[in-house]
Amino acid sequence: MPPVPLPPPAWPMPLLKLRIDDIDHEGAGIFLEAVNPKLALHTAVAASFKWLYTSDTVPKHVTQVLLVLRSMPGVAYTTGTHNEKEIHFSLDYILQSKARAHDEIMGVLVHEVVHCFQHNARGTCPGGLIEGIADFVRLSEQLSPPHWKRVAGQKWDVGYEKTAYFLDWIEKNYGDGTIRELNELMKNTDYHRRIFRELTGRPVRKLWVKYCRSLEGSVVVQQDK
Ligand SMILES: [Zn+2]
Repeated sequence: MPPVPLPPPAWPMPLLKLRIDDIDHEGAGIFLEAVNPKLALHTAVAASFKWLYTSDTVPKHVTQVLLVLRSMPGVAYTTGTHNEKEIHFSLDYILQSKARAHDEIMGVLVHEVVHCFQHNARGTCPGGLIEGIADFVRLSEQLSPPHWKRVAGQKWDVGYEKTAYFLDWIEKNYGDGTIRELNELMKNTDYHRRIFRELTGRPVRKLWVKYCRSLEGSVVVQQDK
């Protein structure tokens, strides 16, 4: 077999580990057929660095990431210490996702790996924004699952794909790297919603209204005609 192509080794990679708690679980077989574990973890770490850091700002405190595949309810979660992270990923969920195993495994891995590295404003960043940034990276890597939709609503920070699409709209309208800057602004200071104004010149409330209107854009155009 030809050697596995790896992303350019420009980023400082932590030690990457894999543990499969039940090799006889059907989900384990699906995982190993759908992805090359080494390439999958390298790609997920590189994606997190690419969208949230530069070579100057890339965090170096995480010395290892351990991926644990095991039978459990839910999808996945990230735990561990400041330096050593653990991602637990459900073999039952991988089995359920059999039909689109590669993209779903990579999407979940990217999301969880972002949690290993993203800044959280010293613990004050709202959970919805944390989850939104993780799914923003997943979305930017073209790993959004088919059921994701852009939707308007009352709140921008409900998290996951709803917030991710809003962050993606900000990135596209206020410049490449805006979400990278947002992450960087949450490195050493507590969270305050005015960081959105610092980045874009507009308060987050107004950005959200503008975004929701952009979703209705085609309808408005039709009415104007
Ligand atoms: Zn998450």
